[in-house]
Amino acid sequence: MLGVTKEATEKDLKNAFRSLARKYHPDRSTEENAEDKFKEIQEAYAVLSDGEKRQMYDRFGHDGPSGSPFGGFGGGGFNVNLEDILGGDFFSSFFGGGSRRSSPRRGNDILIRHSINLESVLNGTSENIEIELPIKCKDCDGSGGENGETQTCSDCGGQGRVRARQQIGPFVQDVVRECSSCSGVGRTIKSKCKTCNGSGRNLEETKLRFNIPLGAEDGTRLRMRGKGEPPVNSNGENGDLFIELEIEQHPWFERSNADLIMSLPLGYSDLILGTQVTLPHIDGDELVIKVPAQTNSGETLEIRKRGLPRTRGSGRGDVVVLVKLHMPKKVSKEVKKSLNSLRDNLAPKDIISRVEEDAEQRRK
Ligand SMILES: [Zn+2]
Ligand SMILES: [Zn+2]
Repeated sequence: MLGVTKEATEKDLKNAFRSLARKYHPDRSTEENAEDKFKEIQEAYAVLSDGEKRQMYDRFGHDGPSGSPFGGFGGGGFNVNLEDILGGDFFSSFFGGGSRRSSPRRGNDILIRHSINLESVLNGTSENIEIELPIKCKDCDGSGGENGETQTCSDCGGQGRVRARQQIGPFVQDVVRECSSCSGVGRTIKSKCKTCNGSGRNLEETKLRFNIPLGAEDGTRLRMRGKGEPPVNSNGENGDLFIELEIEQHPWFERSNADLIMSLPLGYSDLILGTQVTLPHIDGDELVIKVPAQTNSGETLEIRKRGLPRTRGSGRGDVVVLVKLHMPKKVSKEVKKSLNSLRDNLAPKDIISRVEEDAEQRRK
């Protein structure tokens, strides 16, 4: 990080970047491995100043979301943590920030996927699911120690951080790192809690209830604050639970925002004579499609306000029907015979005038 909080404005970011860049600019700096540091700072700034990436960074901390349906996020597309790269006390000494121990550490966020159909998108149903979620172990109050007992970490003396020498390229540097024995908490376990085997958490069948927002889209994420993983060693607050909605494919509708799009293959005589088609619809009423006589293949018919709810504004979108010619896979001898007798009637013989007429229509 550039030593700025999540609420930092673009201007704060720029200022933080500038002062760091000034200090580590390879042309000017007398600091060790200034060039490497300068590169890292540039990278962090690039990520944080990019609006979309920054949003993800804000939401998920250092890791972007990955495909894992359950458990923490890992291996995202970008993962910049300058504190790790440059040593723990680098920014706190530079920006006068507090020690890392004093800031409580959040538990990991959890992402689950939940499938709904178009009917739910239309009606905004209330969903009930049961799922195993990691819950703070009650027997040790999340500490992981037997009967909740812990002791001061002997490796860091309870500080949660240790000094170490680190080789970066040709340079040796004193850095402060998070204590690996206690994961920065400052306390370790004498003997493990038997209920959670020292992890401080147990999987528990949990009932979740949430509402599908009207007009929800595929990939919409609902957030349940504090329903994520408990923090390590009970130090800090729970992460969040994200429910990513997957909209099941409808047998014939495609979706374009609030509109529902379908194609309707009709026989040649239906196109010429007109017809009426009735289909079951997601709103429970029948969808009646009136096809006027002499409808061309490729024309669209709109049935107003039978689509999905609009997320912005009010009302519903439309159903858009693309009319197509249904081409039969097999044509019997009799049908061929009667079609042949109709041939001259259906299209005049003068091909030139037909082609010209069509071009004229097209150019209107
Ligand atoms: Zn320690
Ligand atoms: Zn326990």
